[in-house]
Amino acid sequence: MTFPHLTLAQDPHDRLGLLRTDEEWLARRWAEPTSRALVIAGTRVRPGADGLDWVPAAQAPDGVRLLLGERDGTTWWGVIVSGDVAKAEPERWLPLRGLLPVLSGAAVREAPLVFHALGLAEWHWAHRFCPRCGGALAPRAAGHELVCADCGKPQFPRSDPAVIMIVAAGEPGSPGERCLLGRHPAWPEGRYSTLAGFCEPGESLEDTVRREVQEETGVVVGEVTYFGNQAWPLPSSLMVGFQGRAVSEEIRLEDADVEDARWFTREQMREETAAGTLVLPGGVSISRSLVESWYGGVLPGSW
Ligand SMILES: [Zn+2]
Repeated sequence: MTFPHLTLAQDPHDRLGLLRTDEEWLARRWAEPTSRALVIAGTRVRPGADGLDWVPAAQAPDGVRLLLGERDGTTWWGVIVSGDVAKAEPERWLPLRGLLPVLSGAAVREAPLVFHALGLAEWHWAHRFCPRCGGALAPRAAGHELVCADCGKPQFPRSDPAVIMIVAAGEPGSPGERCLLGRHPAWPEGRYSTLAGFCEPGESLEDTVRREVQEETGVVVGEVTYFGNQAWPLPSSLMVGFQGRAVSEEIRLEDADVEDARWFTREQMREETAAGTLVLPGGVSISRSLVESWYGGVLPGSW
């Protein structure tokens, strides 16, 4: 396996952005027998036997059509219907977080399409009214714009930049090198993950890394280098991964979001993940990729 293995950034579809306003083209493609649509009840979708339940677009129910794009000769769509559909069978309709195990397995190639569709659906769900005048918003551009019926101001989907980082201390590559992981108070015992946080207005991503690590653990970070990024629409983040070098190692816990933080050597990480006393985030997360990239191989177990 090569690193970084950013699962969700692999295998992108052609988004066909310039065709989103061509109503005649959209109608023709929707009607093609090979077109497939994912029905989204509010912000939830229904897994099938092996992956997601994509249906021929022409057989999909009425709703807000989202053109996702083209891949493998198929045109892929989402269609947003009322969230009430999911309320009738709540155990069958899952939000994106509940789908992550499905998307980590055989259906991993569907992940970029599903993240695109549910990222848009989350945005539609959370943006009902114009932020300038309070008028009702209506979709256009195949679901990629919302426009105010009163003042005409358009709204566009947003991705909020968040940083996620692996911070290391000690001689790089040496047996004594260690990395910093933390845990949220609400997590089950043994779960640890990389630290993360949102970029603030006027702040560079590298400074966000340094500020978040210091706020959450008291550790001071010097050099920060870019690792990779992937979409994380839970509900609207773009996770930008970094590697940082610590210039201090003393841990001070003052942030209520971090219950514990620890330095792990590779040996400790190997032993504790094998024993199940350390449980790392799942395979599609950039956190997993950051940790395994630093460790230098695949580790057992996940959330
Ligand atoms: Zn308005």
